[in-house]
Amino acid sequence: MARHKSATFDSHFPVTGEIIGTYLIHADDDVADAVASARIVFEAWQEIGFAGRKKVLLAWSKIILERSDEISELISRETGKPTSDAKLEVSLACTHLGWAARHAEEIMRTSHRSPGPIMANMSATVERCALGVVGVIGPWNYPIFTPMGSIVYALAAGNTVVFKPSEYTPGVGMWLAQTFEEIAPFAHIFTCITGLADTGRALCKSGVDKLAFTGSTKTAKVVAAACAKTMTPVVLECGGKDPVIIAADANLKRAADATIWSAMSNAGQTCIGAERVYVDEKVADQFIALMIDLAKTIHPGAPGLGNYGPATMPKQLDVIESHIKDALAKGGTAVFGGIGSMKRPFVEPVIFVDVPEDSTAVQEETFGPTLVINRVKNMNEAIALSNATRYGLAASVWSKRHGKKIASQLKCGMVAINSTISFAAIASVPFGGVKDSGYGRIHGAEGILEFTYSRTVVRTRFNIPIAFTSFKRTAGNDKLIIALSKLLKGRFG
Ligand code: NAD
Repeated sequence: MARHKSATFDSHFPVTGEIIGTYLIHADDDVADAVASARIVFEAWQEIGFAGRKKVLLAWSKIILERSDEISELISRETGKPTSDAKLEVSLACTHLGWAARHAEEIMRTSHRSPGPIMANMSATVERCALGVVGVIGPWNYPIFTPMGSIVYALAAGNTVVFKPSEYTPGVGMWLAQTFEEIAPFAHIFTCITGLADTGRALCKSGVDKLAFTGSTKTAKVVAAACAKTMTPVVLECGGKDPVIIAADANLKRAADATIWSAMSNAGQTCIGAERVYVDEKVADQFIALMIDLAKTIHPGAPGLGNYGPATMPKQLDVIESHIKDALAKGGTAVFGGIGSMKRPFVEPVIFVDVPEDSTAVQEETFGPTLVINRVKNMNEAIALSNATRYGLAASVWSKRHGKKIASQLKCGMVAINSTISFAAIASVPFGGVKDSGYGRIHGAEGILEFTYSRTVVRTRFNIPIAFTSFKRTAGNDKLIIALSKLLKGRFG
């Protein structure tokens, strides 16, 4: 196949559109080479063992933290977000890196299972094995935190990794691979391949042993279909339309403060950010007034000048504008901002109230600094409306006394009670969604296990006079088996 190594693409500073970097478009054969090299070193990475991998991963974390100013600056340039937000993202990524490195061994320890009364002569164990080469495809909104949620858990479990970053943040991907190379005992354990959608497509069909995708639901479906052709298992971390439920007994000030940040920070480009609020009508006016007061205190701007930056991906601005128009056309009221808030590439905060539930502003992921606040009669209505979307990523519940009860009825992967987004910062808990928000889990023990397969090993400890698995089995043996089954009421194993 012809090599296309000369093909390149540019990354831009979203505030001005200025070109800030030029990167290779890796073609199918380049991707195949990267996966083949990663496969060759898989065994050596296995042989290093948990202790060796932990040492390498902690050394990587040290480098990332030591150069956090440098990488934060790059994240800020590629996404347009404030450098202080980028710094937070870097330190959260390293929290996960350290946790995965320190816990992989105990999570993957061989477990001993009960063989049951009839198989009591056997020992039964379940081992956890690394898969091989894991492909990771990442988005641009949290270009270090998000992909590292897959990369570091896969590496800690003993896999080698080939990473394709978003075409909007290729520099961050390359920086990660270069810093890893500095502490790696040998090459190809973790490599980065840059490019556009076609490079991602090539990774899906490259024969990796698992593909971890984070991005939009639309692309996730294409990725899952492509991977199905080679039976490549997938983890899909996709979009959301996360609800916030405010009960009548909520601490409204705290709820408003956290919700405005959840909705507007990072220009609303947070998969687990607040997109819609269901507030008890008894406290709705008070909550809305608090939100408007807070919205007045924030504004977008270039890094260093705003509370949040521009839309990183220019075409998202059309989606945001169409949702604003739809909310208004369907009869919603803009209580803060409106269509005039579009100051491309920036969007000023927009708050709607009483938006009909069939509006795209309520049903589809906006991924902008806009928020819908709808009043509800009671918490049952809030729960029903929260669940009435195709998404099921995360949610936030604000109530002094009923938080747990409300949370237990939400169909989503993560819920924060009297808090927002906090589960993403707790390395020990799994992260992921249901419905169109995806499947599979990153982070926590589940995130390590996601990049392993179980291998069952059973062993005869001593021989018994009944031959179950032999042509020598007698009618007497059959009788005994049936009698034992009846006696044990089917508790064979
Ligand atoms: P996207 O789907 O446009 O792209 C994601 C990645 O897929 C990019 O690297 C892109 O190059 C690649 N890609 C595109 N087409 C492909 C194809 N056909 N085959 C293989 N790869 C392909 O998403 P985005 O705009 O980069 O990211 C924003 C989305 O990501 C939002 O919907 C957001 O909610 C979601 N997100 C989810 C999580 C989560 O953990 N659930 C985290 C962050 C972002």
